[in-house]
Amino acid sequence: MPNYANPVMPLYRGRFAPSPTGPLHFGSLVSALASYLDAKKNHGSWVIRLEDVDGTRCKTEFAEQIVTTLHSYQLFSDENIRIQSQHSDIYEHYLSLLKQHGHVFPCNCTRQSLAQNDGNHPLECNSSIKKPHSWRLKASSTVYQCQDRIQDTLIFTDDLKNSPVLKRKDGFFSYQLAVVVDDHLQNITHLVRGADLIETTAQQLHLYHLFGWTPPSICHIPLITNRIGDKISKQNHAKPIENSHLPTLLRALHYLKIDLNAPTTIAEALSQSVEAWDPDKLKALKDLPLEEQDLYFI
Ligand SMILES: [Zn+2]
Repeated sequence: MPNYANPVMPLYRGRFAPSPTGPLHFGSLVSALASYLDAKKNHGSWVIRLEDVDGTRCKTEFAEQIVTTLHSYQLFSDENIRIQSQHSDIYEHYLSLLKQHGHVFPCNCTRQSLAQNDGNHPLECNSSIKKPHSWRLKASSTVYQCQDRIQDTLIFTDDLKNSPVLKRKDGFFSYQLAVVVDDHLQNITHLVRGADLIETTAQQLHLYHLFGWTPPSICHIPLITNRIGDKISKQNHAKPIENSHLPTLLRALHYLKIDLNAPTTIAEALSQSVEAWDPDKLKALKDLPLEEQDLYFI
């Protein structure tokens, strides 16, 4: 029997997609490693994408720093790095498809008017397309669920009631639209990302549904938290990590339940880790409390 399998096209395509609003911190390195190791363990390809659609918060210098840091840990994109801010015309095209089908509506609501409704958008608003407006996705009562490889079944019951903004009044596209369009256009088959993004999943599944696309396999890794349970993030002043620092890499791997036998180089540590990676080991953990947090916090 002939073998019709195509050995060139990998069945697994993963990605790491940081927003360049600051340098890479320890929690992001752990996420980058998890997505990389999962791709490589499955003989797949792994790409880096810079999610810089928010032109008010993202900076080119941070994008360059993040890529330099990833490279210093031997984490190289298998394809050209995609830079979202260069693809606004594509997001505009997909927004126009949603407009044609009546899935979005213009909104002039201000932060002050939404504050009267606990910051949530009301089910309807009398907005005019003639005034400066954002585009919001219509609320939906659809209940989505997905089988997360680490978190088991995730069921989203109330996540689509708030009409998220897909394009802001200032012209910038939202993360939600850009991430779904790019994951689809880049044929991403597997998402491995931090559990802080679970809350964005229902809206993304909804967009996949509206576009008629198949969503990727989803895997949310437990968050690394400080002693009081806050995740490590730029917002709570996580320190940037040093480049090319083997002890930092070994600590990050330790949080992914990979403890290696004294590798001497970053390349050696990474190749040993591909074999050792097992997301099932993270299943029992809700979060990963950070030890010696002072090393990473200002
Ligand atoms: Zn509105």
